[in-house]
Amino acid sequence: MDNLTGDLAPYSKSAEILPTTMRQMRKKHSPVQHTLHHAIHAVGIGLHTGRPITMTMEPAPAGHGIVFQRTDIPAAAPLPARYDHVVETRLSTVLGEKDRPENRVATIEHLMAALCGCGIDNARILVDGPETPVFDGSAADFVFLLDCAGRKAQDLPRRTIQVTKPVRVTHKDSWVELLPHDGATPHLSMSIDFPASAIGAQSYDLDLTPTSFRNELAANRTFTMRQEIEALHQAGLALGGSLDNAIVVDNDSVLNPTGLRCPDEFIRHKVMDAVGDLYLAGCVLNARFHGHRSGHTLNNKLLHTLFAQNTGWQDMTNLQSTSAAA
Ligand SMILES: [Zn+2]
Repeated sequence: MDNLTGDLAPYSKSAEILPTTMRQMRKKHSPVQHTLHHAIHAVGIGLHTGRPITMTMEPAPAGHGIVFQRTDIPAAAPLPARYDHVVETRLSTVLGEKDRPENRVATIEHLMAALCGCGIDNARILVDGPETPVFDGSAADFVFLLDCAGRKAQDLPRRTIQVTKPVRVTHKDSWVELLPHDGATPHLSMSIDFPASAIGAQSYDLDLTPTSFRNELAANRTFTMRQEIEALHQAGLALGGSLDNAIVVDNDSVLNPTGLRCPDEFIRHKVMDAVGDLYLAGCVLNARFHGHRSGHTLNNKLLHTLFAQNTGWQDMTNLQSTSAAA
């Protein structure tokens, strides 16, 4: 993060120095929509282009949703952060305009996860390049920026969709599913099994709350295999990748000099990716999510499959509004 100095300590920030709206958020997770209290700017390297990307996050009206906007392309259409505006999922989740391929924004999943975890429903995300800044490969710096921007309550109820029937998408030995869930907040569980022994088999699950997102998911970094890096570079990808923004694994060892941030950082990062990808429902999706050896492609297909049917899910927004007023 090039234009911010000082310690990045999103978890140690005392409540007293936060804007009033953020102090309120930590007391109670309100069912009304929220946007940013004020705009915030940051500059960081793009993972794939290796170029500096300037990003501005701005408040947006209630009902607006999260919308990305390229500022370096004349008359570029806004790109709503929704599953049906995703144009690629190979290495990251990419939003785009189908009829104008150059109008795209890649690597949105960590920012989307931070927006979900921090309870931001409405924001404009302006970027002057084809991807968001990668920062350290986790969502921690996005959470820090959102904390700096503060949080402002709005006058519409937060939209929530409840999954009412199981939906599952499978590809070879990978699968994802959403199951009905009677808990107050989404529940996510995931398992992975990598040939590299430094990763191996890992599983993780948690109830998603603002606190669990900050404490358990946000700081976990993306990862790649050493042997894949050369192929990515030859394809013109991951040009900004380094040990500063990704964990690099070489079979039984982690090449980053400082090692892992926690022993199961890999699976925690995958769960954080799923949080970001599922927020492309355009609202909170209250369900029990399971993933096995899954990634962005299956996460996106899962939302397409869920919303392709008119049954199997229910918009709880009006019910929530009633109960909030009671
Ligand atoms: Zn990721």
